[in-house]
Amino acid sequence: MSADAAGDYDVVILGGGSGGYACALRSAELGLSVALVEKGKLGGTCLHVGCIPTKALLHAAEVADPARDGAHFGVKTTFESVDMSGVHSYKDGVVSRLHKGLQGLVKAAKIDYVEGAGVLDGPNTVVVGDRRLTGRNVVLATGSYPRTLPGLEIGGRIMTSEQALTIDHVPARVVVLGGGVIGVEFASVFKSFGAEVTVVEALPRLVAAEDEAISKQLERSFRKRKIAFKTGVRFTGATQSGDVVTVSLESGETIEADLLLVAVGRGPVTEGLGFEAAGVTVDRGFVTTDERLRTGVQGVYAVGDIVPGLQLAHRGFAQGIFVAEEIAGLAPAVIEESGIPRVTYCDPEIASVGLTEAQARDRYDEVETYEYNLGGNGKSQILGTQGFVKLVREKGGPVVGVHMIGARMGEQVGEAQLIVNWEAHPEDVSGLIHAHPTQNESLGEAHLALSGKPLHAHA
Ligand SMILES: Cc1cc2nc3c(=O)[nH]c(=O)nc-3n(C[C@H](O)[C@H](O)[C@H](O)COP(=O)(O)OP(=O)(O)OC[C@H]3O[C@@H](n4cnc5c(N)ncnc54)[C@H](O)[C@@H]3O)c2cc1C
Repeated sequence: MSADAAGDYDVVILGGGSGGYACALRSAELGLSVALVEKGKLGGTCLHVGCIPTKALLHAAEVADPARDGAHFGVKTTFESVDMSGVHSYKDGVVSRLHKGLQGLVKAAKIDYVEGAGVLDGPNTVVVGDRRLTGRNVVLATGSYPRTLPGLEIGGRIMTSEQALTIDHVPARVVVLGGGVIGVEFASVFKSFGAEVTVVEALPRLVAAEDEAISKQLERSFRKRKIAFKTGVRFTGATQSGDVVTVSLESGETIEADLLLVAVGRGPVTEGLGFEAAGVTVDRGFVTTDERLRTGVQGVYAVGDIVPGLQLAHRGFAQGIFVAEEIAGLAPAVIEESGIPRVTYCDPEIASVGLTEAQARDRYDEVETYEYNLGGNGKSQILGTQGFVKLVREKGGPVVGVHMIGARMGEQVGEAQLIVNWEAHPEDVSGLIHAHPTQNESLGEAHLALSGKPLHAHA
């Protein structure tokens, strides 16, 4: 449905990334009139500089690695080099096809797509240039930007993920500042492409938001892949001269590299957009909402990375859909943050959902855990990967956390999230048959073992 002549809409959405466009599409499906304001490209961070291009790079890395060690499988291969222009044309092709598809969806839904930078002007108006778009409801979805550290200026050989995505050669030596999701994914890509990589992380372990056992296994795997990392070490500065960037650490150590990738987290895009003047509460840049994503200002909602919590595209999609349904009066169920699946696409992949063991021990009196080693899983042996599936359950109760690591294990998170979100007991899952030989079987085997009837489980 399109707007009336006065320019009034049921919903005006500021920001056309994962959260904003999902809200626009669902609102239109529900018969609401929608204006979607975007200053850059429809699809936002995820499509253009986030999930999709990084996963294309990771797939190119996945092609490079077996080319190096085909002999391990009895296949004679030789690895020549990585041609970054070829990698970019493959990656950009994927992004461009998805971008066109998304533009088609927005057009077909008869959403008024407004190009330009918008600001909130009062509780129900977004101003874009000389246009005033008024809505019964306004949804803030302006997303996030790559953060840096005080005194660390981005430029030249010091890059964030955005510049690193377009680099035209494989650097010989890379320092990655930050051992979170984005940091370890890029570390993995650069190593597979042939760079010498060192990850520097101030926290005591890599991927510190994950279960501790996952961090330990990732560190083991990175050691095996000869990806160097320094944890519990603070960065103190970086200088560039000629072809070299020199990174200094609190320990007094310095590391020379061709490139410093700064992956220290993402900040919310909320400054100077009129949010606070309209009465929206902003705390350290993030928009404060209740569990129904209401900002406290009547008719103004917020979704995606500007709302504190997991900065993930599928969380943005779910929140966008939630708000559309809320506006349409469907009273959707509140989104449980801990039920959102999380995947880190480095090699080996990490996939998890629900509580870590430490979080479960804080919440419940008694907790049981089980780690199923992929050594007993036929398909993982065929792929030559190592890792495990770790289950966390409330004693005698449902599975409250699933934590997996190993090549391709991201694909297993679909069943894992059903188990956690449907509060399945291990006995419920062990009664279901998992196909052999798949990696999915390892999830079934872990539940068999936790139900007291292990099959291919080595103590
Ligand atoms: C390198 C990297 C890899 C990632 N990988 C994954 C992954 O594998 N899986 C995953 O789930 N998530 C991943 N993410 C996170 C994911 O991209 C974000 O969680 C998601 O994009 C957030 O969606 P959003 O709608 O909140 O914001 P964004 O996608 O950032 O969209 C916000 C949009 O608002 C627009 N905008 C901002 N201000 C204005 C304004 N004033 N007027 C008009 N428009 C405006 C911006 O141009 C932008 O298009 C990754 C992120 C990065 C950086």
